[in-house]
Amino acid sequence: MLDFQDALTLPPAAPVVLSAMAESADPPPDMTVSEWAEAFRFLGSESGSRFAGKWENRRVPLMVEVQDVCGVDHPSREVAISGGAQIAKSEAALNALCHMIRTASRSALVILPSQEEFGKWNRVKFNTTVEATPDLHDHVVGLRSRTEDSSTTAYKKLRGDGFVQLTTASSSKGLQGLPVGFIIAEEVTEYEDDVGGRGDPVSQAQARMDAWGDEGKIIYVSTPGVKGSCRITTLVEKGDLRVPYVPCPHEECGDFITLDFAAMDRDETGEHFHCPSCSAAIYETQKLGMIARGVWVPTFRSPDPARPDDDSAENPDNPCPPEIIPADTLARWLSPESHQRLYGAPGGRDTEGRYPSFRCWQAYSGLGSWARIWKRWQDAQSDPTKLRTFYQQTLGLAYEERGDAPDHETLTEKWRAAGRPSGVIPSWACMLTGMADVQGDRVEWGAYAWGPGPRGQRIAGGVIPGDPESPTTWAELGRVVRLTFPGEACVDLGFDRFLVDAGYKSPYVYLFASGYPNVMATKGEPDPHAPELGTPTKVKAKIGGKVMAATELYKLGQYGLKRRVYFGLKQGLIELETGVMQPGAIGFSSEVDQGFFKQITAEFLNPNRKFKNMPVWDKQAHQANEQLDIAVGALAGAVNFGLDRLDWQGWQDLFKARAKADALDAMAPLERLWATPDAAARAEELASAKSRIIQPAPKNPSAKPAKPAWAARLAKINR
Ligand SMILES: [Zn+2]
Repeated sequence: MLDFQDALTLPPAAPVVLSAMAESADPPPDMTVSEWAEAFRFLGSESGSRFAGKWENRRVPLMVEVQDVCGVDHPSREVAISGGAQIAKSEAALNALCHMIRTASRSALVILPSQEEFGKWNRVKFNTTVEATPDLHDHVVGLRSRTEDSSTTAYKKLRGDGFVQLTTASSSKGLQGLPVGFIIAEEVTEYEDDVGGRGDPVSQAQARMDAWGDEGKIIYVSTPGVKGSCRITTLVEKGDLRVPYVPCPHEECGDFITLDFAAMDRDETGEHFHCPSCSAAIYETQKLGMIARGVWVPTFRSPDPARPDDDSAENPDNPCPPEIIPADTLARWLSPESHQRLYGAPGGRDTEGRYPSFRCWQAYSGLGSWARIWKRWQDAQSDPTKLRTFYQQTLGLAYEERGDAPDHETLTEKWRAAGRPSGVIPSWACMLTGMADVQGDRVEWGAYAWGPGPRGQRIAGGVIPGDPESPTTWAELGRVVRLTFPGEACVDLGFDRFLVDAGYKSPYVYLFASGYPNVMATKGEPDPHAPELGTPTKVKAKIGGKVMAATELYKLGQYGLKRRVYFGLKQGLIELETGVMQPGAIGFSSEVDQGFFKQITAEFLNPNRKFKNMPVWDKQAHQANEQLDIAVGALAGAVNFGLDRLDWQGWQDLFKARAKADALDAMAPLERLWATPDAAARAEELASAKSRIIQPAPKNPSAKPAKPAWAARLAKINR
């Protein structure tokens, strides 16, 4: 198959012509942002971009309009850009900043979400761009040669009086200061709601632009975050919500359509989209031609003035654009800028005074590939954290955190009926982990078996009554930690990892952990961005003023682990229903009762309580949750032992090392979970999972109904 990346690689630009242009570039050029970028902008080799060298609009043609509305020469005061990674949204804002440095005497403020992003933006984006772009050399003072009034990291001095100031969104001091006429709010979704007790960081920054009145300019750029608390989603939906439409490359069709992930597919011919109008397949080799003719269409919903109380009512005089736009009616739906570019005259859809806002995803970018999009989608099937990243980074959509567990009654009924035996490692598993939770009068524990997929099953558990300060309690737990379990296919296995929660009576837990090579002392870490299993710290078991032992303490990133357990519960039920193994599934033996399932489903993600911009896990009132903590710990133990690291070969090796002599065939059906065989069944499975994808913008379905072939396909996807 043609490697389209190769097709994108161009011979190096002619240096003679460019340097001649650079020298003739004073006084300020009368150019739009995209024209300036095409003529002068270079990407430094330190930028890490595969496309270092001359900026070329043709790689990201849809970004031409985005760049131009970001310019200080465009009348809109605000612009919001939301989308996945690799669509050049930050570059568009940076081009607008460079264009401002060259054409207007203003000062600018760039807000980054963290110190790390601050450093990266300074080094990788701004400094390398200025150094690589001769047209900017004389306009940023002392960046290249250190003099007394050199630019610093936080202040870039511009020729004249201006400056470009960099700050983090968490620095109230950085957000205050001298007036600025241009602001870039980078990764705006990651900002805290309140900074330094002075409130919203964006409002604090905007106050610095008051002197510029309507001529100030602020650009919000971000990858989306979590649904319900995503700043960029709110900002984009307040604007005119432009999405890209591209012409179907099939001659007999030619309708303007959107590339929706729900219409993406893969078979032996490769990754493709189905045209919602003619149903024909559209391949990546047709992408560059299609996006070069792409347009932006405002898709905001104009409320019906006759029915002000009905949020879903649409203004009949300004309806949402249809899903399929025939080329001969394109003009009336376009953004003002797309209309101007295509028809050389004002026109297009009435945006009712809304500011330009954009939403785009990777399928439309010349910088990424459809094959990689599909690969990432496949990889995300077993892991809600990867699925969230896929939504945000690839689809450019806010992710809905589904922190709701399946109903405990359903779980009890289904798993009792399934009749899986307890105390035995299932034929598909060859890894064993456990977790113990220390309470005031008892220690509760559970054992889980794991196999490729990855999939897990709880095979045993129990309660050790007794005082956690009493040696007999720990002696009893020591007996548990040394237990072995028979396998249906593997030899008797002991625990590969056994975790003990050190949140309560920690010195005793440390002392116990120090005595067993397979025991890890752990503590829950509430930070939603923490890794599932952090780097351990050294701790000492101090009992009665005396250091008894030393061990390591592991922090468990509970946020992601709990979500994974709940995802596993749901996948497990799908498995029971369909008989098809599901990645991530967690199953149970039939002796598990309703009390157990009440505990494991005791928590939920509360969207009304936030920590670091993410909803917080809350417990149902008066409901014990030990079994959830135990499942979380057992999963973390498996992750530590290699659950996510092992590939198919790795699992086979582990299985061979542990299998009974006559059981080496037992894993065969699991190959279905891995990419190669039975692609049709896998595609079907992925398609049904895709029905969870939320469409990015409201559309007017009545304007032109989908054709029957497509309708049938959609029905299949959404079933
Ligand atoms: Zn078509």
